[in-house]
Amino acid sequence: MAERPDYYKILGVGKNASDEEIKKAYRKLARKYHPDTNAGDKQAEERFKEVSQANDVLSDPDKRKQYDRGTGPLGGFNMPGGFDASSFGGGFSDILSNLFGGGGGAGGSAGGRGGAGTRGRPGMQRGRDLETEVSLTFQQAIDGAQIPLAVPTSQPCPTCHGTGAKPGTQPRVCPVCEGRGIEAQSQGIFSISQPCSNCNGSGTVIEDPCTTCGGTGAQRSVRRLRVNIPAGVREGSRIRLAGKGEPGLHGADPGDLYVITRVSDSPVFTRSGDNLEVEVPLTIPEAIRGAVIEVPTLHGSKRLRVPRGTKHGTVQRIRGEGPTKLGGKGRGDIHYRFVIDVPASLSAEQSEAVDRLSEVMNGDPRAKLFAQTASGETS
Ligand SMILES: [Zn+2]
Ligand SMILES: [Zn+2]
Repeated sequence: MAERPDYYKILGVGKNASDEEIKKAYRKLARKYHPDTNAGDKQAEERFKEVSQANDVLSDPDKRKQYDRGTGPLGGFNMPGGFDASSFGGGFSDILSNLFGGGGGAGGSAGGRGGAGTRGRPGMQRGRDLETEVSLTFQQAIDGAQIPLAVPTSQPCPTCHGTGAKPGTQPRVCPVCEGRGIEAQSQGIFSISQPCSNCNGSGTVIEDPCTTCGGTGAQRSVRRLRVNIPAGVREGSRIRLAGKGEPGLHGADPGDLYVITRVSDSPVFTRSGDNLEVEVPLTIPEAIRGAVIEVPTLHGSKRLRVPRGTKHGTVQRIRGEGPTKLGGKGRGDIHYRFVIDVPASLSAEQSEAVDRLSEVMNGDPRAKLFAQTASGETS
């Protein structure tokens, strides 16, 4: 049996780290060791796989609990979706699904969709779901993009073809549970079943482990693919790539790959639902007299008529110039929010002009603020 890696150490977090801390640590390390930024660096690639695997386990509350207890089928920890309890036994995986909350489980926050257990032929198990992140520029998120991905995954060990046993040997039926994978303990009238401690619930024991994979039956690898990011994705959008997860066992369907988008900010546009917002400064004369001004759009600019007497904070929108709506038809709008640009300092000439202005615009705009107080005092 392969030695159990210290996932906390790999991510550089404490045993009591919160979900948020684990997520942060993972993101940082994943970025650092990502194969795309370390082309050809085998060591970085190994680290990337380790980090991904640690995250797979620690980001899933069930798996983390199991890992902390130091129990559970080896396959569930060491090799995501690799040699799992159900590889041999067929019916065992249903029991295990109940006990462990899904034999395969889903990568990251994909949340238990995967590893639906055995369906059809004995030993069939759907491949695990995988999750990965892509970083996009603001413009890529707006226009869509084709992004190369490197996804850590596992594949059946080529030496033992996934059995975990040294070539020429076979896994043996577990003598303790006689292949059932569970141990029953009687407590009064109740009988409590738990995974067999001898075989970790697999129902079989490997006496001569395959030396290539250490008996896990799986091999880590990195799959490279290009993913089409649809136009209009946002920060945190989840894109499901059906069948691009880990391979299924014994002819079962592969899992899915979830791609989470990380979108960098634009210096100009702010995303707000289906729409974009832009702050547009106006000079004091433009706000007072109105103007026709040039405003930025996603792929150029448009002219906008600012009405006379436009107040600070007024919003005008141009319909259909915003980002493509995800999953729906058409495009959102761009909202232009006018802000009056008040200069911090004035030239002598400007100062003179403002003096003249204040002479002629000398009403009291705050008078109405005090009207109520005054009437309140008289009553
Ligand atoms: Zn092997
Ligand atoms: Zn057993």
